[in-house]
Formats: sequence, C-alpha cells, structure tokens
Amino acid sequence: MNRFDMGTYDIIVVGAGHAGCEAGLAAARMGKKTLMLSINLEAVAMMACNPSIGGTGKGHLVREIDALGGEMGLNIDKTFIQSRMLNTAKGPAVHSLRAQADKNQYHIEMKKTLEKEPLLDLKQGEAVDIIIEDGKACGVVLKTGAVYRSDAVILATGTFLGGKIFIGESVFESGPNGMAPSTELAEKLRDYGLPMRRFKTGTPARALADSFDYGKMIPQEGDEEIVPFSFMNDDLTKDQIKCWLTYTNEKTHEVIRKNFHRSALFGGQIEGVGPRYCPSIEDKIHRFADRERHQLFIEPEGLHTDEMYIQGMSSSLPEDVQEEFYKTIEGLENLKIVRPAYAIEYDCIDPLNLKINLENRSIENLFCSGQFNGSSGYEEAAAQGLMAGINAVLKLDGKEPFVLDRSEAYIGVLIDDLITKGTNEPYRIMTSRAEYRLVLRQDNADLRLTEKGHEIGLVKEDRYERFLEKKEIVEKETERLRRKVVQPEAANPILEAHGSAPLKSAQSLIEILRRPEITYDDTEEIDDSRPEMSRHQKTMMEVQIKYEGYIEKQKQQIEKFKRLENKKLDPDFDYEKIDGLRIEARQKLNQFRPLSVGQASRISGVSPADINVLLIYLEKVRRS
Ligand SMILES: Cc1cc2nc3c(=O)[nH]c(=O)nc-3n(C[C@H](O)[C@H](O)[C@H](O)COP(=O)(O)OP(=O)(O)OC[C@H]3O[C@@H](n4cnc5c(N)ncnc54)[C@H](O)[C@@H]3O)c2cc1C
Repeated sequence: MNRFDMGTYDIIVVGAGHAGCEAGLAAARMGKKTLMLSINLEAVAMMACNPSIGGTGKGHLVREIDALGGEMGLNIDKTFIQSRMLNTAKGPAVHSLRAQADKNQYHIEMKKTLEKEPLLDLKQGEAVDIIIEDGKACGVVLKTGAVYRSDAVILATGTFLGGKIFIGESVFESGPNGMAPSTELAEKLRDYGLPMRRFKTGTPARALADSFDYGKMIPQEGDEEIVPFSFMNDDLTKDQIKCWLTYTNEKTHEVIRKNFHRSALFGGQIEGVGPRYCPSIEDKIHRFADRERHQLFIEPEGLHTDEMYIQGMSSSLPEDVQEEFYKTIEGLENLKIVRPAYAIEYDCIDPLNLKINLENRSIENLFCSGQFNGSSGYEEAAAQGLMAGINAVLKLDGKEPFVLDRSEAYIGVLIDDLITKGTNEPYRIMTSRAEYRLVLRQDNADLRLTEKGHEIGLVKEDRYERFLEKKEIVEKETERLRRKVVQPEAANPILEAHGSAPLKSAQSLIEILRRPEITYDDTEEIDDSRPEMSRHQKTMMEVQIKYEGYIEKQKQQIEKFKRLENKKLDPDFDYEKIDGLRIEARQKLNQFRPLSVGQASRISGVSPADINVLLIYLEKVRRS
C-alpha cells in the first residue's frame, strides 16, 4: 500500500466514542491542534448499548467530567428524554442521577460540538498502524495509506478493536451495530508487544414500540423536578417519556435453559471475559437458578424512532431462541424484534501497563482511554478520555501530570483501581468502590474539581465565574444560617407540620436544618432575608449542613490517606535493596514502580507488613 503524508497535528485521537470525544475536545480546548478519527462518523458518541447516561456511581463521573470542563453533562442535558434521581431513599453519597437519552440526538449534538471546535478536525478514517520512532508514538497510518504525524497519540478504540460478534452459532468479525471492526490495528498493537486482553460484553434485542402490550407492564415515570447533569444548567423542563417494568417468568427460564447448549457463552465460542455486574440473561438464569423472575425495563431509544431497548435482557443465544424467550414475557407476547441481541468480544490493554497519567509504560506519548483500558460504560470511558486528553497536553507542554487521587474524585478511584489493581473483567464504577464517597458526592463535584480544571486551562471563565458565585453564595448563606436565631413560637408550627420535635428554646436555623425531616425550603416562612439560590446551590448547602459531622470524620480519614499518598517513591528505585521486604513484594514493586507509599499499599501482593518495612526504610534514609 502506498503511503502519503497528509499533515501534522499536535495530538491524534484514534476513536470518536465517549472516550475519544472528551479526549479530543480537552486537547483542542487546551490549545492543541488535534485530529480525531473514527472508522465511521455515525459512531461519534454512539450509544451502542443502553440509551441512558448516569446511574449509581456513573452519575458521579458525569458530574465530575462536567466540573472539569468536559462535554458529556452538557450533551445529555440537551438530549435527555427522561430524568430520575436514583437512591433518594438512601444517603446523599449514593444519590445518582440517571437520564434516558435520545440516542440519535445525543450523537448529532456531540458531532455538532466536535465539528464546531476550532482546533479540532474530525475525520472518517481507520488507523491501521501507529508510527513509533525512538520508542515514542508520533503519528498514525490510515487504511487509505494516509500518514498523519503528531507529538502524541491517544487510543480510544472501544469495542471496535478486534471486534467479533456472537449470535448463537453465528460468529463474525464486526464492530457494534454492524459497523466495521478495527482488526489491523489490533494485530499491530500485539506486534509491538503491548499486553492485550480479550473482553466481551453484550446487548439485548431492540423491538418495535407498537409490538409491546403496555397494559401488562408497570410504567416508570421521570422525576417531576428535573435535576440537570451540568453545573452550567439551572432548571430544565421537558415532556418526559415513560419506561416500563416487567419480569421474566419460569417459561422464559425454561426456554433459555433448554438452549444453553446453543448459547455462544456456554457453547465455549466466546473466550472474552464479560462484566459480572452486567450479565446476559442466560448467565443470570445459570448463576441465580433459584430466582423465580428477573426484572427488565423497556426503554425508548429516542423520540424519532420506534425502537425500544429491552434493558436487562442481553443475550448471545440464536435468533430463533431469542424470538421464543422474549415472547414468553408479560407485555412482549407479540414482540417484533428489529435488531437481535448479541455479544461482542474485543481487544483491550492490560491497564497495569499504564502510568497514572494514562500514558503507556512501553511506548512514550501513547495515551490510552475508555473501553480500551478495560472499563465498561459510556461514563467510565468519557472520564478516562478527558484525563488522557488533559495529560497528553500537559506532557507535550512539559508540565506535571494532572492526577486525581481516591479522595478527590470518582475519576481518581476509577483510574487508580485500573492501573494499580488491574481488572479481570470489564470494570464498572460503583459507589461501593469509593471509600470516601460521602465527600465524593454528585452535588459538590464542582467544589472538588472546577478550580483544578481552571488551573490547567480547561475550565473557561464563564464556568469558573459561575462556580465562584455558587461557592460564595453557599458559604455566605451557611454562615448566615449559623447566626440566624429563631424563636420557638415562630418555628414550632413548621416543625410540627413536618413531624419534627418542637423547640423549647431559641435555636439557630442551621441547627434546625440539621434535622433530617426539615429542608431549607421548609424554613422559608421563618426566614425573611434569604438570597435567591439555584437547586445546585441549595442541594450542596443542605447536604453539607446535615452531614457536617460525618463529613468532618471522613476528612480526617482522608488526611491519613493523604499522608501515605504524599510519601513519594522514586520510580527508578530498586526494591531488591530492602532486605525486610518479602520476595513477592520486591518483585511486584519493581514491576509496578509505584509513585507513592499509598499506591504501593494498593498493589496486590504487597502486604501491610511490607508497607511497614518500606516506611521504616524510608525513615532510615531520611535520617541518614
Ligand atoms: C454490544 C455492546 C454492549 C454493551 N453493553 C454495555 C453494558 O451493558 N454496560 C456498559 O456499561 N457498557 C456497555 N457497553 C459499552 C459501551 O458501549 C462502551 O463502554 C462505550 O461505548 C465505550 O466508549 P469508548 O469511547 O471507549 O469506545 P466506543 O464507544 O466503542 O468508540 C470507539 C471509537 O473508536 C473508533 N475506532 C476504533 N478503532 C479505530 C481505528 N482503528 N481507527 C479509527 N477509529 C477507530 C470507532 O469508530 C469509535 O468511534 C456495550 C457496548 C457494546 C458494543
């Protein structure tokens, strides 16, 4: 194949999925001339699976991406068709926003944003090779022979890389949704000795809206009051669609059990490892054999299509079996399937091979992000794309990497888990993974991150001004509530109306607000001088007041965590020198080269006793 030079960029992003979009926008918005490639421009921000953004833990990531100046939050606020705050019966640490998206609109809006970004060129083209000179990534070669040079390359190839589809006995090379796979690049990455893994994921069938019997299913409405994802939006109003809840039954389970042998999963064709937290229906029936039924949600894919997504029912069983088992479900008896369910196997890198700035350990200036890093989910992909884009820019500018640790952001938890602990299946973020989740809430993501985003040049003045205004209003109002004293005769009617114990003596408004059953809005009647506040501002203030004690306790734990995180380690140190360390620990530390004692403590195979030996050694060195 003839090769010809097609130009030079600062940064090239291979992929325009959820990771690629954030990476390319971050790089261009931080001043780098950036090229973003996609095998097919219809795959820009494509929602290959569930038509929703957010959910438990994922909603936190979207807020953090937004707070840092990323695009996902703004894009879903433009294109959502239903919005719900999940887990409101539980504490604020796990309150999670989830919005149903109009998939096509989501793609269209993101593509428009990319096309309008001054320093960003979006092009259709398949990268079949990376140019590596002196151990550094410095461009790509396309299938057409076009050569683009750059100072850094970001890989965000998703489920397309080495894509292989499984529908029962039928197996064929393909990307998602019938799009072309990225096979040549997959082979090249192996040739360059990168440690690649084989993972898989699956998606359910899509069916026509008018083939469902809604009378037999339970409607799921959106929230009356819509909470925006983006801190740049205050109030959103929209007519919301419904989703529907129904359940499998013994007949469904029987059909599937009878055909386990025809499932690509149990037939042994699939070698890739799938996500434990997102199992296929045949996997659920196999693993939870005693369960009488499994819930599934029917979700519209958009306003301009009649396709409905059958959440919770992904499968790699043959089409005829799919026809049979879907129709056993209440409300789906006359189902018209328009896209069969399938499983997809794809290549990704072993994330232990990545540095904390998502740069590859063996090829310099090659940054990695998204599903390619072993994660699963649009939000996880977007978060890594953003960090890879930011860090590619900082690397080229010779600046310190931008790192968020586990006490600062879910993004920090996600990346630290991947590159320190690794993963044996597609990694999905969850609130339970974040030990400091009471401090890492959705409502305060801007307080934790927007200042940092402004320092690195990604958060622009309009967002920064808005953030400073919020911060000031919340601080001032909290102080005012601390000083504002109310008398029992004024407060008690309201307290009794909310089933709260009456006051015996005067008390500050902040003390009253600490009561779980009393909200800031409830006390409006007895508080005549309060400022105008947006929902974002009120929510953050209320949570900070109600959970002040717990938050303080968690901050003390974070200080302890930071002490070990700030004990820096020389990445070139030879741990064979430390006698007291166990052999396994020496090997792991030399293989992994942690940047801090804190990070060393999270490497599997390094015990707390090893960390003590290390601390003693460091103290001896410091004294000598
Ligand atoms: C069938 C299926 C089921 C899924 N199920 C779930 C689920 O249940 N839960 C969940 O959380 N997530 C699921 N996902 C995953 C979710 O879609 C991904 O996590 C998310 O899309 C990853 O984003 P990404 O940007 O890393 O990659 P993608 O969105 O896959 O985008 C990859 C991009 O790279 C481009 N590309 C690839 N190779 C090349 C090349 N050589 N040259 C140029 N461009 C290239 C593609 O054109 C595309 O633009 C599923 C995905 C699929 C396909």
